[in-house]
Amino acid sequence: MSYYSPSIEKLIEAFEKLPSIGHKTATRLAFHMLNASNEETEEFINAITNAKKNLKYCSICYNISDTDPCLICSNPKRDMTQICVVEDVKDIIAMERMHEFKGVYHVLHGSISPMNGIGPDDIKIKELLDRLKNEEVNVKELILATNPRVEGEATAMYISKIVKPLGIKVTRIAHGIPVGGDLEYTDEVTLMKALEGRREM
Ligand SMILES: [Zn+2]
Repeated sequence: MSYYSPSIEKLIEAFEKLPSIGHKTATRLAFHMLNASNEETEEFINAITNAKKNLKYCSICYNISDTDPCLICSNPKRDMTQICVVEDVKDIIAMERMHEFKGVYHVLHGSISPMNGIGPDDIKIKELLDRLKNEEVNVKELILATNPRVEGEATAMYISKIVKPLGIKVTRIAHGIPVGGDLEYTDEVTLMKALEGRREM
C-alpha cells in the first residue's frame, strides 16, 4: 500500500528507473525536486531536454557530442594515426582523465556477447573497418582497450583477427586493470600503466 499521492508515487517511480537508484534514494530525490524552486526544476528539465536534443554521435568515432565531428576528432593536435578502441563513451572520459593519450578513439557501443545474443554486427565494428580502410588517414596503431572481461577479451580477439591482415599494428592494453573490472572505474595511474604496458597482439 502506498502512503503517497499518485503524483508523488509517479515521480518516485520515474527516479527509481534510473541506474543504481533504489526506492529510498528515489523517494529522497522526488521530495528534493518537490521542495526545489520552480526555477531550479525548470533548469533541471531543460538540461535533460537540451542534452537529448543537441547530443549526437560523432560520425567518425561514435562518441556522444554536441558537434559532429566531436571535439576530439576535430582537434588538429590529436594523432589521427593512433586509434584507441573502447566499449563505451564513458571509457573515453576515463582515458581522457589521465591526460596521456594523444590519439583518437572509436566507441564500439558494446562488446561481443553470444550469451546475450550480441554479435559483431550489433556493435560498431563495421564502422571501425570502414574507418581503417579510408585512405585519407593512414592508421598506424589500433589500441584495444575493451574491458578485461570475457566479452571484452573476445571482442579484442575478434577485432585483432580482422584488422591485422590490413597491415595495421594491433595492441592490447596490459592487465593492470583487475580482471572483471571496468575502465570507467579504474584509477588514472593503473590506466596509464595499462596503456604504457600494451602489447602487440
Ligand atoms: Zn569523434
